[in-house]
Amino acid sequence: MAQITCSFCGRNKKDVDLMVSGISAHICNYCIDQAYQILGEEEKNKKPSAKNLKLKLRKPKELTGFLNEYVIGQYDAKKVLTVAVYNHYKRLVQKTTEEDEIKIEKSNIIMVGDTGTGKTYLAKTLAKILEVPFCIADATVLTEAGYVGEDVESILTRLLQAADYNVEAAERGIVYIDEIDKIARKSDNPSITRDVSGEGVQQALLKLLEGTVVNVPPQGGRKHPDQKMIAVNTENILFICGGAFDGIGRHIANRLNTQPLGFSKKSESKQVDRSNLLQYVTAQDLKSFGLIPELIGRLPVVTHLDPLDKAALKSILTEPKNALTKQYTKLLAMEDVTLKFDESGIDYIVEKAMEYNLGARGLRSICEAIITDAMYELPSDESVKELVIDKKYAEEQFEKSKFKKLQVA
Ligand code: ADP
Repeated sequence: MAQITCSFCGRNKKDVDLMVSGISAHICNYCIDQAYQILGEEEKNKKPSAKNLKLKLRKPKELTGFLNEYVIGQYDAKKVLTVAVYNHYKRLVQKTTEEDEIKIEKSNIIMVGDTGTGKTYLAKTLAKILEVPFCIADATVLTEAGYVGEDVESILTRLLQAADYNVEAAERGIVYIDEIDKIARKSDNPSITRDVSGEGVQQALLKLLEGTVVNVPPQGGRKHPDQKMIAVNTENILFICGGAFDGIGRHIANRLNTQPLGFSKKSESKQVDRSNLLQYVTAQDLKSFGLIPELIGRLPVVTHLDPLDKAALKSILTEPKNALTKQYTKLLAMEDVTLKFDESGIDYIVEKAMEYNLGARGLRSICEAIITDAMYELPSDESVKELVIDKKYAEEQFEKSKFKKLQVA
């Protein structure tokens, strides 16, 4: 009988673990392995070209509808963001058509709002519906080139990673830069000391925001000096910046020619809503706060987030698609325990969040403080089938928790 050998490598059947036979050829397990690896490599290299990437134009109202499922309130910010994103898409479409006399310029955005009011969350949620690469960067870790910290180029490294190193896709992505207020100029006289993490970073960001070709280290950092740089053009990248701008209310109030507390003229007090000065924020206030005019010029769209009142916190706790109460209910349902939040319990949680001034972020820590005991005990106690979180239960648990020591992320 003729010996069976692999038609690819010529190995004898007795020298291999497996030989698969076809009509007139055979293949051994070693060659199957190798062929499989080659297939994998081919797949990896087959990145979609930007021209083939689908561009789904979603209208601002459609985008807002999606955002509403997750983010409570913040209608001004939603409107401004969705319009900017829609226009960003339109710019991209324009690029792929005939050359036009009228060039739509990108409008980078700056969002001003207290911590925990949903700036990052808005950006993140928006990322869910967008089919362009998206990344979040933190302005506080950035320093001028040559100093300890990250160069501004590291932002683009992150975007490239989000785009799976598809440069064309990254070049039309969206970047959210958090804590932009932390790189405000520290004093009005910047010449005395080097301000490596303030104005210097603002300067470094300018060209990035405006549109330029940047050489980006694909692995990031300066640890790999030999890595081959990737050229990324930022002309079509949309930048959204966000910050709490603590104390900007004073600048706004000054500009409105009034004080945060009390107004001199009656006619003014009618028009100005003292409880939410951020809604009047303008580029001028950002300048008074310490952003350099050149940076503000490259962030032409300014919007604000409203402070969250009790009603908003209550909605956040219970209404969004992945509201905290829904998450805990689901977690305990997996233990066959029905979790119910009584109105009084919800109100208690909201009150504590207001008391500790933690915004929506505090809701999570407070819920954890209240429900951790139950989540610890109930999986081992089959007799309990229902848990009701009312004010009495919530208060008891909260009082014995070491909440004050809790680090709020
Ligand atoms: P920041 O404004 O400081 O960026 P975040 O966006 O990180 O605040 O908000 C923290 C968390 O609070 C979010 O992950 C989200 O769960 C919740 N949250 C904040 N604002 C809202 C909102 N308007 N609607 C729904 N959830 C919100």
